[in-house]
Amino acid sequence: MDADHSRHARSPGGAPGSRAFTVEMRILCKQCGASLVGNLFEVDEGFTFDISEGAEVVPPRRFAFSKPESGCREPSVVVSLADAGMLGKPEGDPDRGYGCCGYTDTAGLNLTCGCGFDVGYECSDCTVPPMAYFPLTRIELKRSEESGGNKLSPAAS
Ligand SMILES: [Zn+2]
Repeated sequence: MDADHSRHARSPGGAPGSRAFTVEMRILCKQCGASLVGNLFEVDEGFTFDISEGAEVVPPRRFAFSKPESGCREPSVVVSLADAGMLGKPEGDPDRGYGCCGYTDTAGLNLTCGCGFDVGYECSDCTVPPMAYFPLTRIELKRSEESGGNKLSPAAS
């Protein structure tokens, strides 16, 4: 019954090579400026939010701007749970939004910066699409510092 593994095509006839950002971005706490998540590239053009399969909504090391179909509670930057794993939980209320086996976004922000500012939502419960998202009012999205050259050189053997 659940054998439908159809995947959304990632390149719906767009011009070859047409992409969104190809620069690394990072997410900063709006209150203190600390880096929350780094080394993120925007998803490819044509990316679609698929919140139906229980699979990760956004792949690791990528980010996407929320859309109505992404189910975010406010306009946000969406990332993989893997990239939000180092963030803290609200002090004094670390169970905020805890569901049956993970967190949901139903009880307010549940990810915090080291400065104590609430910055985002972790959705890791089995009842919600796996992702983390950061409302644009809580964060700043900036380019990562350029660290000299690209990283496309093959690994030395
Ligand atoms: Zn902060």
